[in-house]
Amino acid sequence: MRRMTARPANAHQARLLRLLRDHGPNSRAQLGDRIDLSRSKLAVEVDRLLETGLVVADGLAASRGGRRSHNVRLAPSLRFLGIDIGATSVDVAVTNAELEVLGHLTQPMDVREGPVAVFEQALALAGKLRASGVAEGFDGAGIGVPGPVRFPEGVPVAPPIMPGWDGFPVREALSQELGCPVMVDNDVNLMAVGEQHAGVARTVRDFLFVKIGTGIGCGIVVNGEVYRGTTGSAGDIGHIQVEPDGRPCACGNHGCLEAYFGGASLARDAEAAARAGTSPELAARLAAAGSLGAPDVAAAAASGDPVALDLIRTGGTRTGQVIAGLVSFFNPDLVVIGGGVTGLGHTLLAAVRTQVYRQSLPLATNNLPIVLGELGQAAGVTGAARLISDHLFSPA
Ligand SMILES: [Zn+2]
Repeated sequence: MRRMTARPANAHQARLLRLLRDHGPNSRAQLGDRIDLSRSKLAVEVDRLLETGLVVADGLAASRGGRRSHNVRLAPSLRFLGIDIGATSVDVAVTNAELEVLGHLTQPMDVREGPVAVFEQALALAGKLRASGVAEGFDGAGIGVPGPVRFPEGVPVAPPIMPGWDGFPVREALSQELGCPVMVDNDVNLMAVGEQHAGVARTVRDFLFVKIGTGIGCGIVVNGEVYRGTTGSAGDIGHIQVEPDGRPCACGNHGCLEAYFGGASLARDAEAAARAGTSPELAARLAAAGSLGAPDVAAAAASGDPVALDLIRTGGTRTGQVIAGLVSFFNPDLVVIGGGVTGLGHTLLAAVRTQVYRQSLPLATNNLPIVLGELGQAAGVTGAARLISDHLFSPA
């Protein structure tokens, strides 16, 4: 099948494509209401998009009196690939042009194996999705990696948990493998964008997305756009100091948030408690499995284990301490908590909320919702698809 070869010729066409992506099939009249263009100019641009094949006619629109017109929609054959690389797993999904997920696969993976091994696994999952019939090919791919990214070039920069990734040309290498355009961003930024497109942040312009996975990071969305900072490391909140001269951190400093909370330190603390004999519940799980992770702490907490509950509450309080500082600084509409550790659920959320409301000024926290993400595992891949569609639905 012929893949997407055309790009919008101007900003009006780009805007029309994004409107059709975000709102689905529309009549010309509806498009006219959503875009600031004269009727004749709109007709010209829609006709040009129909000629490129990016947009197709799709049934008759509801009558508004006068002549009935056809709905238009994005080409149903368009397919985007979203790849979300975490520290310990990889998610791969295929979406249509409206970014609805048509197929989604996930598997455990260790990012420390390096880019070549990791992309081999991601591409194998993409191949499986293709074989399942949801896509014959890909028009573009978005990729999230768990570290800072030099955004225009799509290259990871000195990622602390990812030896072997520094400077690896992800965008170029994958674009060659897949035969389509590729965009790369930090995984947390893409989760924020996913929640903004189809999740809990759909209606807000300024929000923070805090991912608590193996590590902790923050996506910053300002006036609807991701803020990446000068070198792509904005939101790297896991290495904000919460305890002067505290525990050593993987980054080389002491007392970072990540040294106290996140999947990695939670596993370490849970195993220590199990060995010290303070939690029979965690000890039994350690004896059975040989190691512990966030899901074990979640399960122990659910059965009322006081040590597990305390680990979650203390971690939530420390995370809340950092978020309170961000809230005072940024004054967001919304704070979203996501990532693998959200399995700790409402105990974690309650501890974060208590700390933020206690520590921030009332003017910043008045009506400030602090909520769990809605999309779960699909946030990153949805954001990845959105990233590449934003790129392709821009003037060439
Ligand atoms: Zn650190």
